[in-house]
Amino acid sequence: MAELDAERTPGGAVLMDGNRLRDELVAELRHRIADLGNPHVCLATVLVGDDKPSQIYIRNKRKKAEEAGMVSRHVELGAEASQAEVEEAVRDLAGDPDVHGILVQLPLPDGLDAEPVLDLIPPEKDVDGLTERSMGRLVRGRDGHVPCTPLGVMRLMERYGVETSGKKAVVIGRSTLVGLPQVLLLGRKGCDATPVLAHSRSGDLAALCRDADIIVAAVGVAGLVTADFVKPGAAVLDVGISRTADGIQGDVDFDAVESIAGAITPMPGGTGPMTIGCLMENTFNAARMLGALPG
Ligand code: NAD
Repeated sequence: MAELDAERTPGGAVLMDGNRLRDELVAELRHRIADLGNPHVCLATVLVGDDKPSQIYIRNKRKKAEEAGMVSRHVELGAEASQAEVEEAVRDLAGDPDVHGILVQLPLPDGLDAEPVLDLIPPEKDVDGLTERSMGRLVRGRDGHVPCTPLGVMRLMERYGVETSGKKAVVIGRSTLVGLPQVLLLGRKGCDATPVLAHSRSGDLAALCRDADIIVAAVGVAGLVTADFVKPGAAVLDVGISRTADGIQGDVDFDAVESIAGAITPMPGGTGPMTIGCLMENTFNAARMLGALPG
């Protein structure tokens, strides 16, 4: 299963290293932008309020955009900002030809409605891939942006040689942010897996997963996926994040599963960094779609 120089866990599984792959992706984008003569490629980020994790996510996204040779523009509004003020900020970015990607950090503070804000982002600039038009394009198989977290999962599998064609996959969690687009990506032509969408009412999750060659866990319940969920040799990708007294925990009990799995993501250091890497990939593609790249 493993492709090229991958690290292994103590139990022998391929470690799908998201930090490493994100760095490779950012370096590749930097070279591509340099080869094109350093055209202006701009990612605009919008942060409303003072949520600490959101501030850290935005800082990391801006830093990686600059490392990739892009321009990072940032708009910050206080927690007391009105719906109209947030919408005006996004409308300005949507109409600005110097801005190629727009990312509105979610969740917005209580009292603000994200849907009308996201609706203002044109599909070409929707680098988070979360608007209804981007989701529609994904379903219809049209050129558009794919949500960054499920795209990152796909990139990890490609990079680390996980076979998908004809394989059974179980995605746990059915959100529009992760689970639902993940199922679409796994099932589409070219990937050709057979995905099952599991959720809190799916019954015997362990039995469902034990039948799978690929497990993607996107729930937010620490340690949900235990050894009895995993078929020997399966690829296990952990998206869930729980902040506990012991630090960040994934949905997968890594220590129990790594000696059974054929490939596994660490948490942290797996799908999280790849979410940012894919945001950079989408921003580069946004500039291409908007005709901002030469050639
Ligand atoms: P969500 O709360 O919208 O969805 C969670 C899903 O899990 C729901 O569909 C629900 O049906 C399902 N679920 C809940 N309890 C379950 C159980 N006991 N068994 C089976 N299914 C259950 O969350 P989300 O936005 O999809 O995020 C999921 C997790 O992924 C969260 O922990 C979030 O923090 C994390 N996340 C990580 C990244 C990343 O880059 N790694 C990105 C986005 C979200």
